[in-house]
Amino acid sequence: MSQSTVKLRQPIVVVLGHVDHGKTTLLDKIRGTAVVKKEPGEMTQEVGASFVPSSVIEKVAEPLRNIIPIKLEIPGLLFIDTPGHELFSNLRKRGGSVADIAILVVDITEGFQRQTTESINILKERKVPFLVAANKIDRIPGWRPLENQPFTISLKSQSQNVQKSLDNYIYKLVMQLAELGFNAERFDRVKDFTKYITIVPVSGKTGEGLPELLALLAGLTQHYLKTRLKIAEGPAKGVVLEVKEEQGLGHTIDVIIYDGILRKNDTIVLGGLNGVIVTKIRNILLPAPLQDMRVTKSGYRAIDEIVAAAGVKISAPGLEEALAGSPLYSVDTEDRLSDVTKTILDELSKVRFSKNDSGIVVKADSLGSLESLIMGFEKIGIPVRMADIGPISKRDLIEAELSAKENEEFGIIAAFRVKPLPGLDTSKVKIIYNDIIYQLIDETQKYIEDLRERRKRRTLDSLILPGKLKILPGYVFRRSDPVIVGVEILGGVIKPKYPLIKEDGKRVGEVLGIQDNKKNVERATKGMEVSMSIKGNIMVGRHVQEGDVLYSDVPKEDLEILFKNYKDSITEDMMEVVKEIIRIKRSEDPLYGITIQ
Ligand code: GDP
Repeated sequence: MSQSTVKLRQPIVVVLGHVDHGKTTLLDKIRGTAVVKKEPGEMTQEVGASFVPSSVIEKVAEPLRNIIPIKLEIPGLLFIDTPGHELFSNLRKRGGSVADIAILVVDITEGFQRQTTESINILKERKVPFLVAANKIDRIPGWRPLENQPFTISLKSQSQNVQKSLDNYIYKLVMQLAELGFNAERFDRVKDFTKYITIVPVSGKTGEGLPELLALLAGLTQHYLKTRLKIAEGPAKGVVLEVKEEQGLGHTIDVIIYDGILRKNDTIVLGGLNGVIVTKIRNILLPAPLQDMRVTKSGYRAIDEIVAAAGVKISAPGLEEALAGSPLYSVDTEDRLSDVTKTILDELSKVRFSKNDSGIVVKADSLGSLESLIMGFEKIGIPVRMADIGPISKRDLIEAELSAKENEEFGIIAAFRVKPLPGLDTSKVKIIYNDIIYQLIDETQKYIEDLRERRKRRTLDSLILPGKLKILPGYVFRRSDPVIVGVEILGGVIKPKYPLIKEDGKRVGEVLGIQDNKKNVERATKGMEVSMSIKGNIMVGRHVQEGDVLYSDVPKEDLEILFKNYKDSITEDMMEVVKEIIRIKRSEDPLYGITIQ
């Protein structure tokens, strides 16, 4: 077969970048352009993705013919509708991604930010080539917008100053990319596209630069990814992007098909919460165009078959437990069924696992996010004991508690877009919730480091230990500021600097000093009668009375550390005091002392 007759599919394009740098705006603009410029009858909207036909790219890039001469062999570009790395992580494929190319959106006036670097790391990990859209060029001071024009044309009508400041901004991006180990250049200066990251200045607002962006995406993918884009005529391969319950349809899956052909009535195999799901397609659905007669109530129309690449919704029995991020295959023979079942199980076991080593528990809502989290934790040296999908369950709590027994700092659950099952008592385990992957990783790391740090600093000597004393009637030496009284230690231990509370939990002051037979002592234990100075805003006769009983005000954490690390030093009388202190403190904090019982 000669090169020119090879049939290529549309490349799958994802958009990533820092929040507010304009991903959604840019995608909207591209989609809007496709709708306006498409031929009558051409469909652009798919499920979870939008198709930009080649006819549109050619029309939009028409003014560029002399600069970027392209003859399109691909049928168009398939853009994944939801930008950002959370959804991207579900476009997973063994050792890589279903996405063929990515647009990394960077606000040209802000340059690289945290999530820009994050995105690059994820793209690198999943081996996805990318180009940089240097967005918001219309915000460069003095820029005179030329709506929807190619950048190359718009640039010519800008003043020298504006052109210079654009170049400065681009130069900054080039430097930032160099720091990350990439050579990069503005697209019209790139000599070898395999060695340089292409920077395309654009504005998602005015549409400037969009012609170049589309032309380059199409040109680069069809040139460099030819093998990858060859259509196979065989059964379909895809990936589950999302699992959704739809009115009238039950549980459905939104799927990106990246290879082969998917037909109505095909048997499909995909990953589920409890192993592999084998089911028969009821309907392959696409969004219905207006005035379509076959529109179902749900707003979709059923089709008989779909050729890769495409985004479709599949309704079929038994999809309740389908996993987002799972591979999906259609099967036509028993052999293939057993092959792909094995492949899927293999994949699932890499991402969902449980081992007996010490490490944290990670729960997420999809395979993709779970995998990204595991990779993220691995990279910073936080071991994962168990990783799974779905709400936090009793088993997860038990796993975290077991882990804590081996290594206390790992007795935590990192939860990404999941909640505990209703009615589950989670008070004994630390759960860190965050809906942004890198923030969840950061927060977990910080929690563990803080804990290590505090542990290191907290020796037994530095803890406020449980203690109980009675102010002896007739032994008031000074009534206020500081109070000096004779006391008897009824249990536990009291030391200088300990804060004291009354039986009702009210703070009365802090121990200033303790004297036993006129000599300063560092501690007083059960049975000792000593004189004690207490500073604070108190007066004997007003805030405290002769004969009153006081307790040391033990912080929750100190009590936990005492029980976890220094249990041997808890005397019987101190234990009695602990019980009383817990009772007092519980009226303020119902969780006080909960972990030690
Ligand atoms: P996302 O978080 O990356 O999806 O960013 P959005 O697309 O929501 O854009 C964030 C803000 O930047 C919005 O207020 C947009 O209107 C604005 N914005 C996006 N692209 C452009 C652009 O090219 N030029 C200008 N001036 N503003 C833009």
